[in-house]
Amino acid sequence: MNFKNYIRNVSDFPEKGIVFKDITPLLQDSIALAAAKNALLQMLGDNTVDKVVGMESRGFFFAPMLAIDLNAGFVPVRKPGKLPFSKISETYSLEYGEDVLEMHSDAISKGDKVLIHDDVLATGGTASAVCKLVERLGGEIVQCNFLLELQFLNGAEKLAGYPIASLMKF
Ligand code: 5GP
Repeated sequence: MNFKNYIRNVSDFPEKGIVFKDITPLLQDSIALAAAKNALLQMLGDNTVDKVVGMESRGFFFAPMLAIDLNAGFVPVRKPGKLPFSKISETYSLEYGEDVLEMHSDAISKGDKVLIHDDVLATGGTASAVCKLVERLGGEIVQCNFLLELQFLNGAEKLAGYPIASLMKF
């Protein structure tokens, strides 16, 4: 299946000058949705996984589906102030300024094999902050996988040393 047929370019979103890759055409097609989930699983090979970590918000679409098929748990990474229990946080840089991501401190056990999933790999700032959160709790990162990778933003370089895989490259 050519998954790129289900990705829509939206100009000037969320800000003027940005061409946003909209994944909702893929989500709303029952065949493409299931095929994308299965293709993400195939990219993992025969690695076993204890936890699938998905980041707010668009990482939440596929990460729990992957977790169910992998017999793994799902762990949400959220923006500040959203998680109710004891948590750890990582600050990372954006193009202008910085942002923070949080994870519950009991979400990962030492030695857990962890798959990190998000919809898009852009500059890699988000995913590398999540890698740090996972490793601070003693998790071992098996793979960071994405529906799509914006290669011109060099996110793969920021994630050097971690296995990464993406279904589509632009
Ligand atoms: P990064 O931290 O790699 O620069 O940005 C990745 C994060 O921004 C992901 O969580 C992703 O959801 C979001 N993102 C950045 N650009 C796009 C885009 O064009 N489309 C979508 N769907 N998400 C994007």
